[in-house]
Amino acid sequence: MEILLPGDDFVIGDSAEVKGDTLYLYKKGDFKDVMYALTYKIFGDDECYFCHRKLRSHETQCNNQAYFSKISMDHLIPQDFGGPTITNNLRPACTACNSRKGNMFEDEFYEFLKVYQEVIRTGNQDLLEKFRAALLAKQEKRRKGDIPSLPAAWLADSSPRSIWVNYRIGEIKGGSYMRMLEDVAQYGYLIKPVTVTANNVLVDGFNANLISTIKDMPALIIPMDNVVYAGYPYGERNL
Ligand SMILES: [Zn+2]
Repeated sequence: MEILLPGDDFVIGDSAEVKGDTLYLYKKGDFKDVMYALTYKIFGDDECYFCHRKLRSHETQCNNQAYFSKISMDHLIPQDFGGPTITNNLRPACTACNSRKGNMFEDEFYEFLKVYQEVIRTGNQDLLEKFRAALLAKQEKRRKGDIPSLPAAWLADSSPRSIWVNYRIGEIKGGSYMRMLEDVAQYGYLIKPVTVTANNVLVDGFNANLISTIKDMPALIIPMDNVVYAGYPYGERNL
């Protein structure tokens, strides 16, 4: 898949650089910050994607604070359902929309807003309870994999395929590693995808920094065809 990039060349400190159609990453650990910076560049940092309220951008922190809404970043496909931190899945949002949207997908959030307005208009609270019940049922199906959470076009054809995970570090890290094992036992693979560059460097995903050569786990792979990791390949490993 290709991640969304700004049309023009763009330098993000010493972390990354867009040149032509390609994003060159220089620091693996800065991947999330790079995705946020690119998203603000593409979609702007002065308006909520959902309610279109004016946001307090990074440059106007001190002006008219009461007038502007606080800025935050929303994952269109929620992180709880494996929504990756890539520009295609990120949108600038006010903190109010972001927290109300919570675990909802974009279409579910719009539906919620409609129902919410209807409840205010009619005073009929049952509508909200009905919506919540339907949402919970749908989320349960997503968790079981009956409804896919990620667009097929984002995933590698052969996914899930194995990634390598350091078993001993996993034991030390405890909880998150146990969740990985539970996922594999329950679903057959890690339900949170891992994001890799075109030159096959893993930059984001479930316990990305535990990758080693000891134990393999099947994972969903999001291959970013227009992203190249150009930094020193072993410089930022925590092992
Ligand atoms: Zn908003």
